[in-house]
Amino acid sequence: MTQKLQAVRGMNDILPDAAEQWLAFEETIRTWLHRYGYRNIRMPLLEHTSLFRRAIGEVTDIVEKEMYSFVDDLNGEHLTLRPEGTASTVRAAMEHNLLYDAPRRLWYIGPMFRHERPQKGRYRQFHQVGVEALGYAGPDMDAELLVMCARLWRDLGLSDIKLRLNSLGSLPERMAHREALVAYLRERRDELDGDGTRRLETNPLRVLDSKNPAMQSVIDGAPRLLDFLGDVSLAHFDAVKRTLDDAGIAYSIDPRLVRGLDYYNLTVFEWVTDRLGAQGTVCGGGRYDGLFEQIGGKPAPAAGFAMGIERLLDLIEQAGRVAKHPGPDVYIVHQGDAAQKLAFSVAEQLRDAAIATTLHCGGGSFKSQMKKADSSRAAVAVIIGEDEVAAGEVTVKPLRLDTPQQRVPRAALASSVGAVIGRSMIGQHSI
Ligand code: ATP
Ligand code: MG
Repeated sequence: MTQKLQAVRGMNDILPDAAEQWLAFEETIRTWLHRYGYRNIRMPLLEHTSLFRRAIGEVTDIVEKEMYSFVDDLNGEHLTLRPEGTASTVRAAMEHNLLYDAPRRLWYIGPMFRHERPQKGRYRQFHQVGVEALGYAGPDMDAELLVMCARLWRDLGLSDIKLRLNSLGSLPERMAHREALVAYLRERRDELDGDGTRRLETNPLRVLDSKNPAMQSVIDGAPRLLDFLGDVSLAHFDAVKRTLDDAGIAYSIDPRLVRGLDYYNLTVFEWVTDRLGAQGTVCGGGRYDGLFEQIGGKPAPAAGFAMGIERLLDLIEQAGRVAKHPGPDVYIVHQGDAAQKLAFSVAEQLRDAAIATTLHCGGGSFKSQMKKADSSRAAVAVIIGEDEVAAGEVTVKPLRLDTPQQRVPRAALASSVGAVIGRSMIGQHSI
């Protein structure tokens, strides 16, 4: 017996009703990004595996156990489906020398791939919108990124998304903290889980990122990186906080927030909600001044964030904001060969006038075609039968108004339809 074909586990089809929500979301996103001066960039879904190993770090959840990596049989290349967008954006900026004359505000949207255990809000193919401000060193940019997120939550009608903030300082500060952390963790070695024991030697900061509840008391007692920051790092952090205060954006400082990727320094943040159960982080980001150099480029400061679209859409749905398929403006029904010929050309005439038109295809009686017109949610049915062909006219039948149908000459069709659509919309709004 052949097995029924299904999508790969953790990878979802987005069917038309759901896609309507995605389109509405994407429209809001594009308007929002344009308002902040961001330009779109599109990278390949596949990259050389070494990019992510170098950028994200060997001892991270993503690189250790979540990447879709394989060897291309045809040429032996080691490739990986991108698990996130920052590494690719920086690689592209380096490769094409995008920062040669000025910094860049860039954004991307698209699927990311991580081999995680699928559950609500966690998938193996998921989607992110990401923003990368490349070539900006100051805390003004960190603050702008956060102000920008806060506006998006408002634009999307979402409340209850809270900002958690931390600073990872500079590399020497992290080294000093690391020493203290390792000493502390060694003392409490018996309380560490498997990952913790291993990471104690390889990447101790990652121990603080553990989601294992049994580890929380060890984590809570650990030396805080914030206490190791010097004046320059503290000044940067203070400047970010001051701008947030001025903008009226609430935040909490979370000294345990280290983020799951190695490339961050100074400001790191997450936007979190308690409305999504365990998968409550909708957006994460921060500063990554070392990344360009880390993957072999000329050093350049940068900061950014990425948000999970599925999680945001869940929140939008919970808030009761549902985008409905609007339906076409016109559905054309027709009967007979001559009428069909006329219908084709009338449909194009309407589309020339920017009127969304569905031409009935597949034959059937007038009655069954009218049913389809109705269920298409069109505002108007345009009817073309033998009589209409003979008279060189068409019938315009409002479907959502209590007004009678009308025979009009072809030349008057677009304006007649336009008038009905206008009145139908007013009718809709007054409901
Ligand atoms: P988490 O702690 O939930 O695993 P993360 O720290 O791995 O998140 P990031 O790498 O910061 O996530 O990615 C940014 C955002 O992308 C997350 O805040 C989340 O909204 C979303 N995201 C990450 N992984 C997934 C996934 N497997 N499925 C759906 N959304 C995801
Ligand atoms: Mg993760």
